[in-house]
Amino acid sequence: MNKTIRQQIFARLQAHNPHPTTELEYDTPFQLLIAVLLSAQATDVGVNKATRVLFQVAPTPDKMYALGVAGLEAYIKTIGLYRTKAKNSIETCRILLAQHGGEVPESREALEALPGVGRKTANVVLNTAFGHPTIAVDTHIFRVSNRTRLAPGKDVREVEDKLLRFVPAEYKQDAHHWLILHGRYVCKARKPDCERCVIADLCEYPAKPL
Ligand code: SF4
Repeated sequence: MNKTIRQQIFARLQAHNPHPTTELEYDTPFQLLIAVLLSAQATDVGVNKATRVLFQVAPTPDKMYALGVAGLEAYIKTIGLYRTKAKNSIETCRILLAQHGGEVPESREALEALPGVGRKTANVVLNTAFGHPTIAVDTHIFRVSNRTRLAPGKDVREVEDKLLRFVPAEYKQDAHHWLILHGRYVCKARKPDCERCVIADLCEYPAKPL
């Protein structure tokens, strides 16, 4: 795929959705961090349902830490892997309070040192809470990048590195939200909805029915 087509793809996605953002509900970087931690192998809808109640009771690291693991589990048990996620979240609160003054650190290294926080979660927090032009490659972005040939790669890191190289600078901040939403709602895993795709004429998926 050449530079002009990549430019056109993002111009189209932007025209279609000028202000994309995460579908996770949050008010602060801390709440975003916890919501992303809870969202691994779960849907944003399911996470939002639980956090709407949880964040009323425990909106900050000290209040969440005070719940303890069992107390937190009671609020998130509708979410998959909730026991591990409760343990990681409480330990994250403890570290934020002990080492970061109760704030979420704006650094990849410090974020990735938190339990349950990998490169993808750190990228989401850096991008969405702090405005860094990072790109978090999840299953949707991996699929869309490969199918369209926008940034083909054999693993998520290769796709991330290529996207960081290939996405035009003016689109980098919002690229991951556009690609996630496109993958979630249009370029779906089982059957891509090519008929209603706004980038169908630009996409280089060999099997697209157009
Ligand atoms: S044309 Fe089809 S395969 Fe290509 S991006 Fe659109 S939905 Fe995905």
